[in-house]
Amino acid sequence: MSVDEIEERIAKAATDAGRDPGSVTLIAVSKQQPLDRVEAVLDEGYRIFGENRVQEAAGKWPDFRARYDGIKLHIIGPLQTNKARQAMEMADAIHSVDRPKLANTLARLAQEIGTCPELFIQVNTGEEEQKAGVLPADTDFFIETCRGLDLPIRGLMCIPPVEEEPSLHFALLAKIAERNGLGGLSMGMSGDFEKAVSFGATHVRVGSAIFGDRDYPAKG
Ligand SMILES: *Cc1c(COP(=O)(O)O)cnc(C)c1O
Repeated sequence: MSVDEIEERIAKAATDAGRDPGSVTLIAVSKQQPLDRVEAVLDEGYRIFGENRVQEAAGKWPDFRARYDGIKLHIIGPLQTNKARQAMEMADAIHSVDRPKLANTLARLAQEIGTCPELFIQVNTGEEEQKAGVLPADTDFFIETCRGLDLPIRGLMCIPPVEEEPSLHFALLAKIAERNGLGGLSMGMSGDFEKAVSFGATHVRVGSAIFGDRDYPAKG
């Protein structure tokens, strides 16, 4: 599906929910996609992309940035502290802040570099053992911790368990964000972005619906 078609569907879902379509940002998730598919979307004029691995992002985006103006890059996958500097220098937003050690590292680097991408705290709404993210019960405290470090926390992010109805997870994320005064909600992927919009998503992360199936199975 083209980016235009996805944007139309987002706009319709927003309007149906009584929301301003302009309040939802589509992040085109280009991880593990052949470069020509990414280039085709750049040629259509789209500029907001998501990658889940710093290494992979570093391999393709400097070149694209040299050739196309105005690219915004969102890091949406788990972030190791030893990749934090690279992520901060490259990204406009990081969606996977999920532990104090990482928060401390980001805060120190923000001081050093003098700027910091917009940050989202990842919440493990399904309390899945293998999944990254702060547990729902620990999220309020972690948000406080991040604010104490002067980090620019824009909102919360979640990836609902694959086997579950995502609505409950979207609703939970929205509730935690609201009681903490956070406006950003990064939720919704190819299979459920319209539903996420109806629950208040401000950032939807859509990969395969735009680019087609990935080269190899996703991790994380
Ligand atoms: C891969 C990925 C997506 C996009 O998934 P699709 O199902 O291809 O739309 C969204 N969010 C995260 C964190 C991802 O890793």
